Amino acid sequence: MSEKRVLTRGTVVIDVDACKGCDLCIDACPPGVLTMTSHELNARGYAFPILSPGCTGCRICAQICPDFVFQVYKYDEPIELVVNE
Ligand code: SF4
Ligand code: SF4
Repeated sequence: MSEKRVLTRGTVVIDVDACKGCDLCIDACPPGVLTMTSHELNARGYAFPILSPGCTGCRICAQICPDFVFQVYKYDEPIELVVNE
């Protein structure tokens, strides 16, 4: 396993139980840092997105989500997050 550092400019808070699993946010995220759960479901029985390092804080997920699942926070300064691959 190797370590990679990923520049990360923001983060999102995901209201998991508000998600209806429509997948729109997954393709809309420019750096591709959102993925749907494969084995875990929310209280309504839907898969939901999880965030990997590398968010840019662009807010596109919040704009495209029909159910207002995302709150986006942009950092004042970028940080590096360590990812094991
Ligand atoms: S704010 Fe932008 S980069 Fe971050 S998860 Fe949402 S769409 Fe992706
Ligand atoms: S766009 Fe919103 S409702 Fe659709 S999968 Fe993403 S978080 Fe869930």
